[in-house]
Amino acid sequence: MAPVAMRSVAKSLSEAKPVAYWLDDPGKPAAQPALTADERCDLLVVGGGYSGLWTALIAKERDPGRDVVLIESKEAGWAASGRNGGFCAASLTHGLANGIARWPGELARLEEMGARNLDEIEAAVARYGIDCDFERTGEIDVATEPHQVEELRELHEQARELGLADGSEWLDRDALRAEVDSPTFLAGLWDRDGVAMLNPAKLAWGLKRACLELGVRIYENTRGLKMSAVGAGMAVTTPYGTILARRVALGTNIFPSLV
Ligand SMILES: Cc1cc2nc3c(=O)[nH]c(=O)nc-3n(C[C@H](O)[C@H](O)[C@H](O)COP(=O)(O)OP(=O)(O)OC[C@H]3O[C@@H](n4cnc5c(N)ncnc54)[C@H](O)[C@@H]3O)c2cc1C
Repeated sequence: MAPVAMRSVAKSLSEAKPVAYWLDDPGKPAAQPALTADERCDLLVVGGGYSGLWTALIAKERDPGRDVVLIESKEAGWAASGRNGGFCAASLTHGLANGIARWPGELARLEEMGARNLDEIEAAVARYGIDCDFERTGEIDVATEPHQVEELRELHEQARELGLADGSEWLDRDALRAEVDSPTFLAGLWDRDGVAMLNPAKLAWGLKRACLELGVRIYENTRGLKMSAVGAGMAVTTPYGTILARRVALGTNIFPSLV
């Protein structure tokens, strides 16, 4: 690149910050205070991403009398949950083709559970008034090469034979370009119901609020350091206090495990 062009690129990027788009939002909620003393609870959830937040929320919904604490080493939603692509897909197999290849015998059940899961997510978003731009857009797999047209057509045929093509529509070139007018698109398979788009950070923050409203005690900037068995329960130590819990649920994803 010519020096003048490089200077111009450097200038236009000079105010850019290395922050995930979704997390750079003035609506971001304040962090909950860190744990500063010992605690006790029925259920301790470690991790404030989707796994931890949904676990805490559902634990409270199932038994409002259950005493639930959640600890998060930074702020809820800062990690993968607040910075993902925002595709909220029903598929539990990362797409139908993968499901057909790996779990053909269980696929009908997996598809049914996945559809129910997405419905439940949508219902919870509505129930708690979570403003996360949830929209059932569906999703179109597109072919840009002739061999991909055949692969997609075959996939649609297989889905039909398995009775799993409900809500799935074959789009030839003209039908696809009526939806998305790109000259590179040759055909597409439209899953009309199985995918929603949402703002991932706002979902995490909304789940945090819903947990707090149901009485979950959340301590942010509180890392679980060590977990050990104590009597019939567990003890999790943090920098400024130990939490005794009857049960512990770990939602720590790729971070070092406490097990
Ligand atoms: C770039 C990217 C794009 C993606 N796009 C999509 C997509 O479009 N659709 C989709 O469905 N999925 C997508 N994913 C995957 C999805 O984001 C993750 O599967 C999901 O967010 C995982 O949630 P989690 O709660 O398990 O983990 P995380 O969100 O990683 O949360 C784990 C939390 O645990 C906390 N923690 C860890 N250890 C401790 C400890 N010892 N004490 C206290 N707290 C601790 C961490 O600080 C963190 O906040 C994407 C992921 C990435 C990275």
